[in-house]
Amino acid sequence: MTTKKVIAVTGASRGIGAAIAFELARRGFTVGCLTRKGKGPEAPEAVEFTRRFVNVACDVTDEASIKAAFAELADKTGGLNGLVNNAGIHLDGASHELTTAIYDKVMATNATATFAGCREAYRHLVKSGGGTIVNIGSFFDKIGVKRNVAYCASKAAVGAITRCLAVEWANRGIRVLDVAPGYIVTDLNRKAMTTGPLAEYLKKRIPGGSTGTTSDVAKLVAAIFSEAIPFLSGETIYLDGAQGINH
Ligand code: NAP
Repeated sequence: MTTKKVIAVTGASRGIGAAIAFELARRGFTVGCLTRKGKGPEAPEAVEFTRRFVNVACDVTDEASIKAAFAELADKTGGLNGLVNNAGIHLDGASHELTTAIYDKVMATNATATFAGCREAYRHLVKSGGGTIVNIGSFFDKIGVKRNVAYCASKAAVGAITRCLAVEWANRGIRVLDVAPGYIVTDLNRKAMTTGPLAEYLKKRIPGGSTGTTSDVAKLVAAIFSEAIPFLSGETIYLDGAQGINH
């Protein structure tokens, strides 16, 4: 891709989304930072590339908001060439008492919004002559995790959405991929993942002994856009330090 390509990233305010936005900008992309507040990523130490950010308000659970955000971004930049559906939530609870409201909320943010984001990006990508969509899934899509029925179901749906759209839209020059991380340390979960029982468990479960970083995910996603490999589509690419295949 050339330096003029425009990639939208949902949930770019913090965590993995912010890291993806910075990595894409570092590589010369114009990045549409779609956040609920309409402000750029909260990472004041990394101001260097913020000139390549176009900040747009977007709540991914509101279809009108997604539609308006892409229209505003395309209007300001001249068109859209890619999308990263990153925004997501994690709510857990014992399955026998998990309310349908909580289940639906997780599905709405992680799965339905991913579909709606792809659908609303479609006409912009077609107009640009094609493009690439990266959906952020999770390695929880293929394993059974106690208290995580909604999250696991939502991420399995992300894999299915990715496969269906990759097949359906290939003839329009649109590739769709699912990047599925394992345990990634962010500012929000750092304490739980680096000290205490979860940290001890992960040290044993992840073959290399340590969790991933937001930079790991950002580099993989940015590489997908930078390298533009036309034959790579529909796949779920796991980035979990081999935890998901560890016996
Ligand atoms: P995070 O730090 O909690 O950030 C979540 C992001 O999603 C925030 O930017 C948040 O925006 C945004 N968001 C949530 N609901 C939204 C909505 N309705 N509309 C727009 N934005 C919304 O989480 P993260 O760890 O960076 O996770 C990012 C993605 O990676 C998620 O899809 C998650 O499932 C996936 N993932 C994470 C891990 C991990 O270990 N961290 C592992 C596998 C997969 P606000 O700032 O407005 O709340």
